[in-house]
Amino acid sequence: MEYRVGQGEDIHRLSPGRRLILGGVQIEHDTGLVAHSDGDVLLHALTDALLGAAGLGDIGEWFPDTDEQWADADSAQFVQTAVGAVRNQRWEVVNLDCTLRAEVPKLTPYKAEIKRRIAELLGIDADRINIKAKTSEKVGPVGRREAIAASVAVLLAREEC
Ligand code: MG
Repeated sequence: MEYRVGQGEDIHRLSPGRRLILGGVQIEHDTGLVAHSDGDVLLHALTDALLGAAGLGDIGEWFPDTDEQWADADSAQFVQTAVGAVRNQRWEVVNLDCTLRAEVPKLTPYKAEIKRRIAELLGIDADRINIKAKTSEKVGPVGRREAIAASVAVLLAREEC
């Protein structure tokens, strides 16, 4: 087998009047993430990790935020397009390790549902996915409750030709 590792990260600003969607799951909260799309930082980081591992560039090249096509887009479609491109090159997802950083709200109650949703989007077993939820210890934009950030590491494998 040959292997490739990829990593992705993202951060978006929190603002009133927006829905909060993380990992494809709607979260109960009084603020949400500002973005051209639905602002799902976790799915954006996952998209970048998948593209990065396969050497396919980054989310901004594939889904420009200047393109009206992606206004308020469901970020699930970014992940599905990216994993499709990865599979076209015969890569399979071995596992992912995801970190969410939010001072508020508490995300631990949502971890299982986020894991199930990502497993569904990628077409892999949920036991290949780990979700970590951390605060930023009141430091920086996340710590001041101004933003939520995410990072994802992914491992891909394929049979050698
Ligand atoms: Mg983003």
